[in-house]
Amino acid sequence: MFMSDPETHQQAVEIELLKQEIERLTTENQLLSSAAATFKTDADTQADNLLAGLAQFKLIADNVPVIVWTASPDGNVDYLNKRFTEFTGFSAQQSLDDGWYVIMHPDDVERTKQAWANAIGHGTNYEIEYRFKWGEDNTYRWQLGKALPLKNHNGKVIKWFGITTDIHEQKRAEHQKDEFLSIASHELKTPLTSVKAFMQLALKNTPPEEKAYGFISKSSSQLIRLESLINDLLDVSKINAGKMNYNLEPFNFSEALIETVEGIQQGNHKHHITIERNDAVVYKGDRLRIEQVINNLLANAIKYSPNNNRIIIRSELQQNNLIVSVQDFGIGIEPNNLTKLFDRYYRVDNTSMRFQGLGLGLFISSEIIKRHNGSFWIESQPGEGSTFFFLLPINGKQEFIDIETDHKTYYRGNFIEIKYLPQQQLLDVNWLGYQNFDSVKKGCLIILDLLKKNNCSKVLNDNTHVMGNWSEAVDWGGEFWFPAMQEAGLKHFAWIYSPSTFSRMSAHKSIDITMGKVTAQFFTDIDEARTWLEKMD
Ligand code: ADP
Repeated sequence: MFMSDPETHQQAVEIELLKQEIERLTTENQLLSSAAATFKTDADTQADNLLAGLAQFKLIADNVPVIVWTASPDGNVDYLNKRFTEFTGFSAQQSLDDGWYVIMHPDDVERTKQAWANAIGHGTNYEIEYRFKWGEDNTYRWQLGKALPLKNHNGKVIKWFGITTDIHEQKRAEHQKDEFLSIASHELKTPLTSVKAFMQLALKNTPPEEKAYGFISKSSSQLIRLESLINDLLDVSKINAGKMNYNLEPFNFSEALIETVEGIQQGNHKHHITIERNDAVVYKGDRLRIEQVINNLLANAIKYSPNNNRIIIRSELQQNNLIVSVQDFGIGIEPNNLTKLFDRYYRVDNTSMRFQGLGLGLFISSEIIKRHNGSFWIESQPGEGSTFFFLLPINGKQEFIDIETDHKTYYRGNFIEIKYLPQQQLLDVNWLGYQNFDSVKKGCLIILDLLKKNNCSKVLNDNTHVMGNWSEAVDWGGEFWFPAMQEAGLKHFAWIYSPSTFSRMSAHKSIDITMGKVTAQFFTDIDEARTWLEKMD
């Protein structure tokens, strides 16, 4: 009877529906609880893992004999390991509060702050030497500070990891070595000069037909070699101490070149030195020091070409620069050794046993050229020979002149031409002639300006007309210019090689330093570079 009551029937249906709903909700609730439980376990595991990772990091960091630190993206140091406290005598909190500029040598603070600000500003590696006060006896000790940025998938810095290593003993040993070499070479010089004078007297007073004449004459030439080695050591000591003096006077460069070549040719009959070009030039510089450079390059050309006797020397005037080159057809140099040749004591490994030398000649020569505001570079093929070049600016400094510009879409100078091509939406950059740090910096800043003004993201960087060296600007390009270009919207960078091996290597180096979000490609052919850029969006 109840069953047939429509109202009761309705209620029964509703109850049934409610039951179903409750069941559904219960199942959902169960599912949710189990998901929550899993999630909680996941989150717990992740937190545990993070904590374990952090504990592991601290355990390692606190037990290494170097200062380890981390910093937030804006550069505030937020963690310092135990070693810092041990070194300074500060508590961990004191160290974080007072910052480490308190214990830094006052002379090092400014440049360190600058380097740190640059690294933070550009998200690039940080490396610098400075002195810290040692808590134990309050003396300053040399440190090497290094830091690397940890970046997320967007290239944004999320943390800095740094290490500060005590290099005081190493620095002291280097200083002692330099001092020893300086004293030793000074002490050797005086007796050598008198032995040389006596040898000359002996040679004069010995008739050439006597057997002794040959011996004395051989001893004299060995003494000249010894004198040149001692002079190199003395020069390095002077360069290290910043005491190399230059006597700048105008002199007839072409005449000096002929005299130097004649001097070398007299003492060496095996090799034949040809002066292929010798433009008439009066140059203001230190004649003896410049002759020393030519002598050194010719001596190397002779030494490193035992199986070929041809040496060519050229001196030509180009755009107010004197370009001098010494070419040999000897053993040549592997590309990866080229840029290190100017370092002190550097000698190419696989040839150092075959040829005598101290590895100082090129270091001294490049210092002399630098002090004349010039530059130095090399072209070389292993097994085929080498050409060593140096450039001396006739007016004391290389001139990089603006010719015309509208400050928006084009710039023309005697060292670079830049134009914005609206159809291809790219900046067409053509570097010209002999570059140095000043020209590269000036050109790069104009490129940056035009890139911004045209909202452009592509650069066709043509180096085909670059002659000579611009390696000094490499670090600056990598650390400041490239990141700034990236910030200004650069996305695609096509680099067309210079024919100069030295410049090619510099190019690679600056790209290696920062790639960031920019795609950079090297080309030997300008049309291929254009096609590549057009395909990119
Ligand atoms: P040194 O000749 O006394 O070793 P340098 O500073 O003059 O020192 O040269 C450094 C290194 O450069 C040499 O050890 C040699 O490996 C390399 N080098 C210099 N000139 C030449 C050359 N003309 N051909 C091949 N290698 C050279």
